Amino acid sequence: MSTLTQKVQDVFNEPGCDHNQSKSAKERKKGCTKQLTPGAAAGGCAFDGAKIALQPITDVAHIVHGPIACEGNSWDNRHAASSGPTLYRTGFTTDINELDVIYGGEKRLFKAIREAIEKYDPPAVFVYQTCVTAMIGDDIEAVCRAAREKFGKPVIPVNAPGFVGAKNLGNKLAGEALLEYVIGTEEPDYVTPYDINIIGEYNLVGELWQVRPLLDKLGIRILSCISGDAKYREVAYSHRAKAAMMVCSKAMINVARKMEERYDIPFFEGSFYGVSDTSESLRNIAKLLVERGADAGLIERTEALIAEEEARVWQQLAPFKPRFEGKRVLLMTGGVKSWSVVAALQEAGLEIAGTSVKKSTKEDKDRIKEIMGTDAHMFEEMPPREMYKILRDAKADIMLSGGRSQFVALKAKTPWLDINQERHYAYAGYVGIIELVREIDKALFNPVWEQVRRPAPWEKEV
Ligand code: SF4
Repeated sequence: MSTLTQKVQDVFNEPGCDHNQSKSAKERKKGCTKQLTPGAAAGGCAFDGAKIALQPITDVAHIVHGPIACEGNSWDNRHAASSGPTLYRTGFTTDINELDVIYGGEKRLFKAIREAIEKYDPPAVFVYQTCVTAMIGDDIEAVCRAAREKFGKPVIPVNAPGFVGAKNLGNKLAGEALLEYVIGTEEPDYVTPYDINIIGEYNLVGELWQVRPLLDKLGIRILSCISGDAKYREVAYSHRAKAAMMVCSKAMINVARKMEERYDIPFFEGSFYGVSDTSESLRNIAKLLVERGADAGLIERTEALIAEEEARVWQQLAPFKPRFEGKRVLLMTGGVKSWSVVAALQEAGLEIAGTSVKKSTKEDKDRIKEIMGTDAHMFEEMPPREMYKILRDAKADIMLSGGRSQFVALKAKTPWLDINQERHYAYAGYVGIIELVREIDKALFNPVWEQVRRPAPWEKEV
């Protein structure tokens, strides 16, 4: 069995992932070899998933070994923000051509690594495998090893070519690359009993910065965020944290679980969307840290901070509640957002007309049921036709989704708000929920809807 096949099999057998564990052995095997539907790369191939998970490491050079289109598909398509370095936003690709396909692209890759190191001197280089270079047999692990020895810098192979599966699998394979080549390779200058890791948070539109001040107030240090706004060194010494929070559902469950197993770092799964979930996450962080040696007063300080922040946020939410009365939301997102955003919207006084659970795990679905009290509004699959019908028949007043469904809402002359990775506003923590309701309010009450719904002059005459 090749190393890649072995790794994919390992990830599919991840004990922490209930989704895969609930499948039969036959289904799991099929999952590894499942062919993607043509065009499905738009929803994310494994390479795309790996790139999404690691590109937020801001100070390294991310080289995509493959035809230029792979980098074109994945480059900077999310607003992962950085507090300093900008190298992660530079697109590096070997841009292989027909001759490389015939003669092999390994030399070209080695030269690209050399060029990136000579020009930018990054602390590390990440090299991503793609379909074509995997199929012609380029051994990126060997090239990275040779480059590491030659240039004396970490050169990390990320072996997740698109054809091995979907985006989620790529997230996990990226995590495997970190576990194998990065985590545990450096030491922090100092450690404290208040050091945590946040895993699966990509700092989209700066969401991590909405949460960091809360942790700062409690004296809790984010030793490493994997991988939002991270520097290479921070990820390399993340094994010294005392506890961890796993944010993005199951995207990096293998990293959280293996770090617990290898370095004894306990973790919990939480969310920073909505008031209650933010408070609950802060409580869990404090609890885990106290169990690992932090002073017991941390729990009290956390409760005091939660009380102060909640009082402020409820006061700020109050004016929106009468405006949102009776307003229904159709939520088309997935994973952790399918329940955490449901809870946040209900806190803001909105009703949920429906939520999609296509990309949600069994636990995500249980949480939705718990929050809404019923599973009647959960949709496994909703083709655009159905979506359009719900909006046209005014069964929902606004749709929250990713950019790909926005035209369905616009065609139905219904307000729409981007809730997915391309969004331009940050919705995390106590300040984030206020931002979210403000954006929903702006979309709902935009005068344009009244205008576009008016019959056209020629329709009146008929
Ligand atoms: S890795 Fe493969 S599936 Fe993904 S973008 Fe490149 S060619 Fe397409």
